[in-house]
Amino acid sequence: MTIAIYPGTFDPFTNGHLDIVQRALRLFDKVIVTVARNSSKNPMFSEKERLKLIQESVKGMKNVDVELFDGLLVDYAREKKATAIVRGLRAISDFEYELQMALMNRKLNNAFETVFLMPNEKYTYLNSNIVREIARLGGNVSEFVPSVVNNALRQKLKK
Ligand code: ADP
Repeated sequence: MTIAIYPGTFDPFTNGHLDIVQRALRLFDKVIVTVARNSSKNPMFSEKERLKLIQESVKGMKNVDVELFDGLLVDYAREKKATAIVRGLRAISDFEYELQMALMNRKLNNAFETVFLMPNEKYTYLNSNIVREIARLGGNVSEFVPSVVNNALRQKLKK
């Protein structure tokens, strides 16, 4: 059984993230979406909210687990018996950071490969940051995020 982990902050989970999960499922028997606690980023949604929104977004999809994680990714991957770390690559601008992370993770543990997947072109300009910004300004983000996320954004911004 081949297992991949797909780590990220997912603040919030978008259709771009979902697209990557679907692509990863074509290559691996199981994909574990791992939600980084990432307190340094001061997220809009708490880790529990992010976890729940992803679980709801992938409901009905087989072979996807969603978990919270803290600590070193390579330790987590070993614990989960994963052989690959999946990351999405949208544009050249993602590349430098992603290359650095991939090489550093390899240095820390040579047992894993980082696999980069390109989303459908329509998601290449999409990121969680922009989604949060548009929603904050009262724009409609329903075509960019799963409906549970859209509802959660509205709820959050009402407060
Ligand atoms: P980070 O892990 O840097 O906090 P995110 O949680 O936003 O970033 O994203 C997690 C992973 O998903 C990263 O590999 C990122 O490049 C990828 N990703 C984010 N948005 C998209 C998108 N629209 N299409 C494809 N991949 C994406």
